[in-house]
Amino acid sequence: MATVEQLPQTHNGVAHAGEEIPVENPATGQTVGTVPDLGAAAVAEMARRARAAQPAWEAYGFDGRGRILSRAQKWLMDNSAQVIETIISETGKTFEDASLAEISYAGNAFGFWAKNAPEYLADERVKSGQLLVKGKKLVLRYRPLGLIGVIGPWNYPLTNSFGDCIPALAAGNSVILKPSEVTPLTSLLMAEGLRECGLPDDVLQIATGRGATGAALVEEVDMIMFTGSTRTGRKVAEAAARRLIPASLELGGKDPMIVLSDADLERAANFATYYAMQNAGQTCISIERVYVEEPAYEEFVAKVSDKVRALRVGAPQGPGSVEVGAITFPPQLETIEAHVADAVDKGARVLTGGHAVQSGGAGRFYEPTVLVDVDHTMKCMTEETFGPTLPIMKVSDAEEAVRLANDSPYGLGASVFSRDTARGEQIARRLEVGAANVNDAMINYTVLELPMGGAKASGLGSRHGAGGIRKYCSQQAIVITPKLALKREPHMYPYRRRTSRMLAGLFKLLYGRGDRD
Ligand code: NAD
Repeated sequence: MATVEQLPQTHNGVAHAGEEIPVENPATGQTVGTVPDLGAAAVAEMARRARAAQPAWEAYGFDGRGRILSRAQKWLMDNSAQVIETIISETGKTFEDASLAEISYAGNAFGFWAKNAPEYLADERVKSGQLLVKGKKLVLRYRPLGLIGVIGPWNYPLTNSFGDCIPALAAGNSVILKPSEVTPLTSLLMAEGLRECGLPDDVLQIATGRGATGAALVEEVDMIMFTGSTRTGRKVAEAAARRLIPASLELGGKDPMIVLSDADLERAANFATYYAMQNAGQTCISIERVYVEEPAYEEFVAKVSDKVRALRVGAPQGPGSVEVGAITFPPQLETIEAHVADAVDKGARVLTGGHAVQSGGAGRFYEPTVLVDVDHTMKCMTEETFGPTLPIMKVSDAEEAVRLANDSPYGLGASVFSRDTARGEQIARRLEVGAANVNDAMINYTVLELPMGGAKASGLGSRHGAGGIRKYCSQQAIVITPKLALKREPHMYPYRRRTSRMLAGLFKLLYGRGDRD
């Protein structure tokens, strides 16, 4: 198999004249590879090839495609060490963050879509109460759209960039993936792996490059699946609207956690710590802010502060070495510092952390941080921080917590902790988010049967579940009239007074009988 360094140069055989983009290991500052910055002409050429390859891929059928995806599942497990190493090399995340949140996700997803695509996309026989179609065969059919563009962010190169290619491929589409320019190497490696598993040429291609490459991709495809910031998501939505192609958008978040006074505070504190700091807080559905009912506040804050203080941060050196890895994207460190500085300026207290790690090395890290005495005048409570920080706010009751949780332009995920699960569920239902967990967090993302998508400015559409593969298809309604049918149906020309009156009477009989209140 090609090494990661070789992959970009043999990049799908597409010629490119542009500059090379260096890929940095954020934990060490070393350059670990370079990839081409593909321009619009190269993307158009990829699209031409992808369209040529798609009909044969569709003709593989669910069984043929499923076989390749299930081989890819095995390939991923057999090559997990190399994939994890590649993910770590370009993100600086810990071994555990790469293994638990990326390998296990993709391993599950390959099998899930191979198994469930046939059922989710099976022809549906439809029954109708409409009299004129009695005796006719009515079918709803899902047909692959053709060429899907997937654009991904840098925080989960396997789960969020590559992961969305799997259902798009399972549905019978060809796919061009534009990974983040910050973390393109994992996608190139996965494409190589799929080729080894028998995926035909050009069915999956990787278009490396920056934002302009992504914008060029939107101009070529039949549907765009975008994961990234809300700011870029709006641009993608505008371009898709101009082209009248569907866009599925998975965008930013500011996920709240609500801790009621009857909660199991030890469990709540462990969840707050883990799901705020996991992946160094660089997860769209990280816990970004906590609201705690007054009676539980002191104990919860003490527990969380102790747990966060105990975390080790730094360059990962294999399993079990550190809990919190690097800040992957350079400007992210500035955002984290700005949010903490803004909070402190406005009266917040830092209980632990509060600074970038001064390691002396070239790596980029931020101390796991707990902030208290925070409120909604502060950026750390209202804007996406995307770092290992956890602001905790005291509230007088659950009503205040719900009001503040909903006081956000975002609506991705949320958590509610209470021993009264019925009350927890009632509160969860009032939160304006795409997914809410009671006495848990983030776990919904691993349930591929459930839709995962954002409300409000967190996105449009969803991934996972039946909708997560049907979106890569157009719906086709088919009506089949049996061969023994009337030569002329009663509503047709010529219009006759008697027939028209009879039909009008029939409509009244069908839809106008009885009293209404
Ligand atoms: P980003 O919006 O800066 O970039 C995302 C991708 O879009 C990159 O590949 C980039 O090159 C590309 N891009 C930039 N300009 C473009 C344009 N005009 N047209 C098309 N593509 C363009 O986001 P990021 O900083 O890479 O990722 C972090 C963000 O992603 C956070 O806001 C995070 O919450 C979000 N995210 C959301 C989910 C989710 O499922 N909702 C998952 C992971 C990350």
